[in-house]
Amino acid sequence: MNLDPRSMIAMAGVMSAIMAIVLLFMRRYYPPSIRGVGAWAAAPLLWLASTVLFGARGLIPDWLSLVLANQLLVLGTVTYYMGTRSFMGQPAIWRPWNWLMAGTTLVFIVLTYWIPHYALRVGFFTVVMEVLYVAQMRFMLRHGGRNFPVRLVEVVLALHMGVLAVRLISILAGKAGSDLMEPSLFQTLYIGAYVITVLMLSIGAVLMATDRLRTELEHLATHDSLTNTLNRRALLQRCEDELERAQRYGNGPSIMMVDLDNFKAVNDTQGHQHGDAVLVHFAERTRQVLRRGDRLGRYGGEEFLVLLPGADTAAALGVAQRIHATLAAGHPLDCEVSIGLTSWTGSHETLDAMLSRADAALYRAKNEGRNRTVVA
Ligand code: GH3
Ligand code: MG
Ligand code: MG
Repeated sequence: MNLDPRSMIAMAGVMSAIMAIVLLFMRRYYPPSIRGVGAWAAAPLLWLASTVLFGARGLIPDWLSLVLANQLLVLGTVTYYMGTRSFMGQPAIWRPWNWLMAGTTLVFIVLTYWIPHYALRVGFFTVVMEVLYVAQMRFMLRHGGRNFPVRLVEVVLALHMGVLAVRLISILAGKAGSDLMEPSLFQTLYIGAYVITVLMLSIGAVLMATDRLRTELEHLATHDSLTNTLNRRALLQRCEDELERAQRYGNGPSIMMVDLDNFKAVNDTQGHQHGDAVLVHFAERTRQVLRRGDRLGRYGGEEFLVLLPGADTAAALGVAQRIHATLAAGHPLDCEVSIGLTSWTGSHETLDAMLSRADAALYRAKNEGRNRTVVA
């Protein structure tokens, strides 16, 4: 099956244009905290410009349809890589790639005008693209994590690297062909690989950004914006889940109701902003003394709830003492807290019952002089 290279190149152009539009919209409407989308949108635009020049081969001068077209393809791929770097929170380092592109342009000019040599030109271009893909692949394996969109882009890069390797071998074996537009099985394979890669890289970018947006929205929906602890709804849901688990397997949780002492006075004497800073400090310090599975959430105002899965009263009391201690370390934002603590009593237990016991214990802690823990 030998497809006409010019039609395939035109197809790549149409796909690039569509993907550029999608990514430009995303850049406009997605939160700016999702970085790199601008570069991801610019990449298909550069690829589009490159395909237009490739497609006009023979109608326009060689320096446009050969030299510039190839360089735009490289530039688009470098831009995509820089977008990926920004997206993953790393600086976009252009300098080495600028040098590479400048050097590549020179070599291309030489191989087009001075020593016109199709096979050398294609071979050289293949090596440059391979270097770029290897760099991007290495970066993604290190910084990309394991989610599906990242894996998808990695697979696309790996497949294209494979195709490029085959192309290089075929060139070394003297089977480069004589022109880009020559319809042959190899040309179909190589250009087809570019068409699919260009499309899949853009789709990968859309999926990566969307996945990030989902994570950010999920975080916003479940976390308190001031203290970055779980919000009330999310925490109560975790508590319900834990009780349900305990009903089946036993080994239920303890919960603590933690209320900052005389916090109104802190606000009144030092200002609301200082009060906010105390709340943030409390949350940070408390998180540090909790285990991995423990959950801290803001129950309301200056009242927090701690879920300690699988912790009996003795273990939970240990955690409570650590909280008192870490907030008495001499930091200017330290505060005193009262804690009402209660533990799971068996499979008949309900969350409402546990919450009211913890609340009653907290009330007693306040009445007994504050800055202490009382067990219900
Ligand atoms: P107690 O020891 O009995 O708990 O006394 P308290 O002053 O801590 O309790 P009270 O319930 O009278 O006051 C709680 C205060 O917490 C009142 C409210 O203005 C303040 N507060 C609630 N949410 C926030 C917040 O997000 N930021 C700040 N700065 N203050 C808050
Ligand atoms: Mg209070
Ligand atoms: Mg309170």
